[in-house]
Amino acid sequence: MSAPATPLRRRMIAGGGALLLLPVVPRLAQAATIVAVRTWPADEYTRVTLEMDTELKAEHFTLDNPHRLVVDIEGVQLSPAINDLVSKIRPNDPYISTVRVGQNRPNVVRLVFDLKQDVAPQVFTLKPIGEYKYRLVLDLYPKVAQDPLMALLKDAENDPLAGILENLAQNSPTEAPIPSVEGQKLPPIAHKRPDDTPPPPPRAAPGTRPDRPILIALDPGHGGEDPGAIGRRGTREKDIVLQIALRLKKLIDAQPNMRAYLTRDRDYFVPLNVRVQKARRVQADLFISIHADAWIKPSARGSSVWALSQHGATSAAARWLAKKENDADLIGGVNLGAHNAQVAKVLLDLSTGAQINDSIRVGTQVLQEIGKINQLHKNRIERAGFAVLKAPDIPSILIETAFISNPQEEQLLRTAAHQQRIAAAVLNGIQDYFSAHPALARRD
Ligand SMILES: [Zn+2]
Repeated sequence: MSAPATPLRRRMIAGGGALLLLPVVPRLAQAATIVAVRTWPADEYTRVTLEMDTELKAEHFTLDNPHRLVVDIEGVQLSPAINDLVSKIRPNDPYISTVRVGQNRPNVVRLVFDLKQDVAPQVFTLKPIGEYKYRLVLDLYPKVAQDPLMALLKDAENDPLAGILENLAQNSPTEAPIPSVEGQKLPPIAHKRPDDTPPPPPRAAPGTRPDRPILIALDPGHGGEDPGAIGRRGTREKDIVLQIALRLKKLIDAQPNMRAYLTRDRDYFVPLNVRVQKARRVQADLFISIHADAWIKPSARGSSVWALSQHGATSAAARWLAKKENDADLIGGVNLGAHNAQVAKVLLDLSTGAQINDSIRVGTQVLQEIGKINQLHKNRIERAGFAVLKAPDIPSILIETAFISNPQEEQLLRTAAHQQRIAAAVLNGIQDYFSAHPALARRD
């Protein structure tokens, strides 16, 4: 029971205006505690995570004029941690301008997000995993899904190849749909040609000079809620691999006949199947997932390169590693079923035999080049069931650049010089592969 309003409180209500009033309610014995609040703003979507010691129910709805998202969380009291949320909204957040937090009813905290644009919200809970307790996740997607092809074009604005890339976007195949979640509309471009436009010219036969640049999808592992492996000095895999990917993108974009596309370009979580979907959407010729390894023993060291295996891993350690990397979705926090399920099905139905052969070829070249700048963990390509390597039509490799759990390698991974050496070695490997297999420089 809340105490009747005192004259003082009534005056506050009368004169408060926009001031947020927090009614005094008795603390419930079993109220949940908010342990931490995190925000992950990105163009693709903004995520807000509330971590707590028990699983909580939340209801949400949106309001227009102006756009707002209202989330009611049951079984929780206002606390400094939840009030922290207000200061964690960054001015450059693409979706949220401000958030207001209040005790809506006894036992119900209401969050009101004032939005910069209409959103397709995804609200879901996650059970404890890794270092995390229960999480309530609010994902704010734009009402119209982002097309990776448009991101590629935007990035190539002053590029001499912009025209070619635009043509590519206009004629993008429909079998590689845009990653989207329920409640999102697809953008009115590219995915469907109007009936009166002529069909795209047939693709050149394999072996002829490619009429477009070689497109490399770079996939920095982990991100957002998923830090990946963490070194003894606190170095996070997700940060290091993004830095290496950005360096490699720069090197690739400086080549006359190559361009790079990043599946994530900042610190936010991208589900594994969405990474694959993005690469297929931009019709990448090659997919390179970048990681840093970890092992219980700090003595483990060296680089390794991986290709997909559909039938078991090359060793117990390989199986363990693939499981650890595939757990990214659980730790990063994926809303099961939110991303279009038919995409996952298409990927499962297609054969990946030829893809794996090409992946082993390119992986071998990359491994050879990395062997010139770092000790190798294994002298040959290894294979395991990595979810991120499952694009049926794109040669795909995963590089464990070094062991972040090895103090010397952790130190190396932190330096710009070593990151640059890794990026250059990978570029050399890619170039060796495409010059040895020019027919593979384009898909047919
Ligand atoms: Zn990793």
